[in-house]
Amino acid sequence: MSDQPEPFTYDGGRVEPGETQQLRYAVSETYLGDPVRIPVTIINGPRPGPTAFLSAAIHGDELNGIEVVREVAQEWNHTDVCGAIVCLPVLNVQGFTAQERYLPIYERDLNRAFPGKQNSTSSNRIAHSIYHNFIAPCDFGLDFHTSTRGRTNMFHVRADMDDEGAARLARAFGTNLIMAGEGSSGMLRREATEDGIPTITLEMGEAHRFERELIDHALDGVRSVFAEYGIYQQETVRWPGWRTVIEGWSEKTWLRADAGGIVEMRHERGDLVHDGETICRITNPFKSDATVVEAPFTGLLVGVLENPVVYPGNPLCHFVKIEEMQERIIEERTGQTHESTA
Ligand SMILES: [Zn+2]
Repeated sequence: MSDQPEPFTYDGGRVEPGETQQLRYAVSETYLGDPVRIPVTIINGPRPGPTAFLSAAIHGDELNGIEVVREVAQEWNHTDVCGAIVCLPVLNVQGFTAQERYLPIYERDLNRAFPGKQNSTSSNRIAHSIYHNFIAPCDFGLDFHTSTRGRTNMFHVRADMDDEGAARLARAFGTNLIMAGEGSSGMLRREATEDGIPTITLEMGEAHRFERELIDHALDGVRSVFAEYGIYQQETVRWPGWRTVIEGWSEKTWLRADAGGIVEMRHERGDLVHDGETICRITNPFKSDATVVEAPFTGLLVGVLENPVVYPGNPLCHFVKIEEMQERIIEERTGQTHESTA
């Protein structure tokens, strides 16, 4: 980082210090030969500093992050920005258009195609075009996601906490919960982090929605990150009140239904549930028979089913084990004790 502000360059384009550019950048083509273009806003501040990217809708139906990125790009004051902000509110245009998570065909998960490759599959070419032009020039990034459709996630960060840069970013964002792990191969956050561009994922709420409370929470997180890295020098880094870092988790920690039926959830996303407490009941249509699902250990409800119907084997909730120390901290800070939730 030099002490003079520098232009931001991409594929023949150039954004001078103090300038903002809005563009639609072609990353692929449709069956009709029309361009598939991602919206991009590049804000190059008048003063030197790091370059950050904010991206959303890499899964096309995960909408909360789109509003976060759009508000940073369009509604925040950029006159004092130190550095540059690359805003990518909709990365998976085909998925977004269809309101689907995935690209239409073949290797459908765009978030397994990074950093991408030229002269390769469709998803690899899209990923390469995005990565090469708008991710590679950055110093760090925030990638916004929600839960898969029909479920909802507690607001949290996923980051490789063994990477110094990603850990700094994760803590600066200021969520209560950080899920530590490097992520899968081909994921934007993993590939960028390994490439020296620390990147974290924000998980927030459910697909197909704008959830205002979560969007505001995320905007606070972006402000806090921008304060930590000096992009917004007037802001301060946020402390969330309590924080717990979960190591060694996996998607396998979803509790699954052992009966088919209608789910009566007794808790909300983000709740601390103690060992043996009822998480939900699976009932028949007459409510005359119920399978009670109890917490197999004390943990946090990170993800919860929203669409309340299950077949045997379907996921009910993403339930993550909490150590005794963490449990006490959470109880203290939230006022959520065993007695009050039982
Ligand atoms: Zn996602």
